[in-house]
Amino acid sequence: MDKFIYLDNHATTKIDERVLELMMPFLKDNYGNPSNRDSRFGRIAFEAVEIARQKVAKLINAQIEEIIFTSCATESNNLVLKGFAENNFKKGKHIVTVATEHSSILEVCKKLESFGFEITILNVDKFGRISIEELVSSLRKDTILVSVMMANNEIGTIHPIKKIAKICRDKNIAFHTDASQCGAYLEINSKIIDATFITLSSHKMYGPKGVGALFVNKNHSPKINSQIDGGGQENKMRSGTLNVPAIVGFGKACEIAINEQQSDFERISNLRNQMQNELLKLGEITINGEIENRLPNNLNISIEGIQNTTLLKNVKNLVFSTNSACLSTDISMGKFSHILRAIGLNETEAKSTIRFGLGRFTTKEEIFEAIEILKTEINNIRKNNLVIN
Ligand SMILES: *Cc1c(COP(=O)(O)O)cnc(C)c1O
Repeated sequence: MDKFIYLDNHATTKIDERVLELMMPFLKDNYGNPSNRDSRFGRIAFEAVEIARQKVAKLINAQIEEIIFTSCATESNNLVLKGFAENNFKKGKHIVTVATEHSSILEVCKKLESFGFEITILNVDKFGRISIEELVSSLRKDTILVSVMMANNEIGTIHPIKKIAKICRDKNIAFHTDASQCGAYLEINSKIIDATFITLSSHKMYGPKGVGALFVNKNHSPKINSQIDGGGQENKMRSGTLNVPAIVGFGKACEIAINEQQSDFERISNLRNQMQNELLKLGEITINGEIENRLPNNLNISIEGIQNTTLLKNVKNLVFSTNSACLSTDISMGKFSHILRAIGLNETEAKSTIRFGLGRFTTKEEIFEAIEILKTEINNIRKNNLVIN
């Protein structure tokens, strides 16, 4: 492959070498089944999984028995929403979520709606923020669950989830937060947040793909129905032979995050700010999302007159995104991101919107180079009047 600058870390991240190294023996010689603890092979795998579980738990200050391994954040979101709804429908059929959630929340809610649940989808303002007053007034006697993501995967807006969790707790409503984008950068303290459920994804934090986790708060003792039944793994919540190498890698990724979260946050947000300030000098550029409460690696901008697909084509060795990788396929949602729509962008504005996701391996040199490439191309497109409308 040609040399490229990867600025698409919201879509997925490169696996950290330290993670890969720890995984390798479990892809080769340590291939035991962790459910088969009678064999030496099985025990080695079991112990590795439990060490990884400790590390994941530690990242979010949880107990090991509060961690369920899944195949990805999408599965965690499905498990928590469907599993909780199924188990609690006698208490109520009302669920509250937000217009800018990931499709693995919104599509599940749509399905639950078809089964007779009632879903309230909170709107956001142009910065992607929900209104706490609106949230409070949306809660009903029959509300069983509220799901609000910790930070948005397109515009980076960070929600006040501790506050929301408290509101829910006071009303005895379960609260779930999808923290898929946050593991590598933000403190996710399950004790302080006091959410009922938290979703994590390994491949968004320099771990391997194919593994995620759901935190289930022991103190809230929520009841959820498993969605994958069989051999009874993961405390009967998620059957199927565990993906040992991926789980080992995820554990390592969490351990690294614990140690490097803070320094990565500072370094990456500095680079992001530098890139943002340089690009703003081009004029007629708006930043999408919240400036202050934003993921440190997120830069989402609309560049007036520039078609994002044209720009992407012209800057071949720059990797960024013109839209969320996990767009809803539902035609009724339109052809552009439901997140950009929710913050009030029209189709033309959405088409001139690009998302950069910096990451742990982004260097200063790469950012300087990316700025130069973008400046040249944007000026070029503007000068040659290749602009839209
Ligand atoms: C990427 C992402 C997901 C889906 O994660 P997978 O592990 O790929 O299934 C869910 N929610 C958010 C906010 C994401 O960014």
